[in-house]
Amino acid sequence: MPPQRTLAILKPDCVHQHLIGEVLRRIQEADFTIRALRMVRLSKAEAETFYAVHRERPFFDELTDFMSSGPCVPAVLEKENAIVDFRSLIGATDPNEAEDGTVRADFASSVQENIVHGADSPENAEREAAFFFSERELVS
Ligand code: GDP
Repeated sequence: MPPQRTLAILKPDCVHQHLIGEVLRRIQEADFTIRALRMVRLSKAEAETFYAVHRERPFFDELTDFMSSGPCVPAVLEKENAIVDFRSLIGATDPNEAEDGTVRADFASSVQENIVHGADSPENAEREAAFFFSERELVS
């Protein structure tokens, strides 16, 4: 089976707490190949577009404020089973429920400020990768 791609974002709290290096280290230690990587500050409108599926949720406004509060680091990662394996590496959304040793258990401060995003399906991974990167930026 060909390797799978996922879209990760090192969120503004990750950047703010100087954890970019540590999280990328864990990603590489877990055998993901980085296909694309950049730093960007989302506008509020861009964060709303990215999280459009959550538009009706009560935390939508707070979440999009947070995601546009500072720079973030999106990345396209490749590995067999990348989507499920990345979500295992980062742990549950709520750090209180995340397994020991996961990124969120170790570093997240709340259910919102949870350090990393990981796509949850191949369709979303593709859509989210295209949100941040052109085909040309996916380095093989
Ligand atoms: P994920 O796939 O684990 O990132 O979780 P979801 O897709 O359910 O939620 C997207 C993001 O919204 C999460 O990563 C959090 O940053 C945020 N979020 C989720 N649930 C809550 C909540 O109950 N309150 C707030 N303030 N933010 C939340």
